[in-house]
Amino acid sequence: MAVAGPRVDVRLGAPKLAHSPAMKLPHPSFWFEYDRAAVPQVQVNRMQSVAAFERAQRVLVGGVNSPVRAYGAVGGEPVFVDRAEGPFLFDIDGNRYVDLVGSWGPAIVGHAHPAVVEAVQQAAANGLSFGACCPLETELAEIILGAIGSGELIRFVNSGTEAVMSAVRLIRAVTGRSRIIKFLGCYHGHSDGLLVACGSGASTLGVPSSAGVPEKIASLTLLAPFNDLAVVERIFAEHADDIAGVLVEPIAGNMGYIEPNAGFLEGLRALCDRHGSLLVFDEVMTGFRVAWGGYQVVIDVQPDVTCLGKVIGGGMPVAAYAGRREVMELVSPLGPMYQAGTLSGNPLGMASGIATLKICSRPGFYESLHEQSTRLAVGLRAAAESASVAVQTAARGGMLGMAFAETPVRDYVAAQACNHELFAKFFHAMLDRGVWLPPSGYEAMFISSAHDDECIDQIIGAAAESFRVIQE
Ligand SMILES: *Cc1c(COP(=O)(O)O)cnc(C)c1O
Repeated sequence: MAVAGPRVDVRLGAPKLAHSPAMKLPHPSFWFEYDRAAVPQVQVNRMQSVAAFERAQRVLVGGVNSPVRAYGAVGGEPVFVDRAEGPFLFDIDGNRYVDLVGSWGPAIVGHAHPAVVEAVQQAAANGLSFGACCPLETELAEIILGAIGSGELIRFVNSGTEAVMSAVRLIRAVTGRSRIIKFLGCYHGHSDGLLVACGSGASTLGVPSSAGVPEKIASLTLLAPFNDLAVVERIFAEHADDIAGVLVEPIAGNMGYIEPNAGFLEGLRALCDRHGSLLVFDEVMTGFRVAWGGYQVVIDVQPDVTCLGKVIGGGMPVAAYAGRREVMELVSPLGPMYQAGTLSGNPLGMASGIATLKICSRPGFYESLHEQSTRLAVGLRAAAESASVAVQTAARGGMLGMAFAETPVRDYVAAQACNHELFAKFFHAMLDRGVWLPPSGYEAMFISSAHDDECIDQIIGAAAESFRVIQE
């Protein structure tokens, strides 16, 4: 195996925000040199973006190809990106931003890392897609399976949506059952059965949360609050013989950043075992983001099926689902469950993923990310406190969350109760100070190994000012 997973080294304890010592990065070798001298200062003139959005809206639905990019949750006009390098984004007016989105997770080694760019360029020169087997697929598969530990076979697809959709089909194929359990506020892509919301009252039966999703399909998805094992137990009691499995983000990253309560994931594992159901971890966001492999490595709970995406493609459209041999053997061509893809396992995506994970596999990589994300979480919290703004922060590996709330957020109801109006103001104040936050208070933030002390300090400095101005 080319890359040995530092399994034991990455079992990071929960960040103890109050007691974190001042930290220094032990492994600056992850960084690459980018040209700081050449970067323009932020001018807050975004006329080119305004014009670009006008033009885009004439031909693209809402001017975007994914809804959150339209800034609906924060107001204002989306900023158009010209290029990205290391920890920075540059807009088409020439303004520079420290990026805390990282393409929603994939950019874990920084944007346009020379080793990743070179790998992709080399692959591209050999042809963009073969629609046939290539050795790079096996190489990336070996790296991933060696790291997550819970899988023996893997299938690559092109998006997280596809990975989870296929995983759900798979657990239905294995069990011959039709219902699944998911958690309120967890996002698993936009396949029909996963675009569901809570029905009325105490009902756990899903109803469509998007037009175009038939009620019959939505009703096969049962909903429980994240971190609420009692409701999951009740659902199992009512529907045990028809529950194919439980689908969960092991750390919820699509309603801010919410870690599972102690025992929650272990409890899900036990309930699935007791009822002959399968446990699916959707680690599309957390996989290779919070630790080498994913959060399952940290907590040592083994799911039956793991969904991955984002980081494993290093910025190219790559995702995957993986599991034990006897489970995955049901997938075509070995078994009766059909699933295919014209561009699946394409050489560019594989090359980008391999180059990215090789950097992530270096000793100390995740510890180093964890130190920086913790320093940022502590700094943001302190900046908020000195401006008397109530903010909760938490961090793990290269992922962190910030919520405008008085107490820690543990579920979707609490995430909805956060002050999202204040977040919108904060978002724009930060944008004007050269910091690129996710344009919604329901999103987690991501740093890369290119986010050095100077970047973190710049973010904290901008936040100190922003917390002050948003109250005026
Ligand atoms: C991003 C995400 C998805 C969907 O992935 P896409 O590549 O956007 O389709 C699914 N699950 C989780 C947990 C995600 O964060």
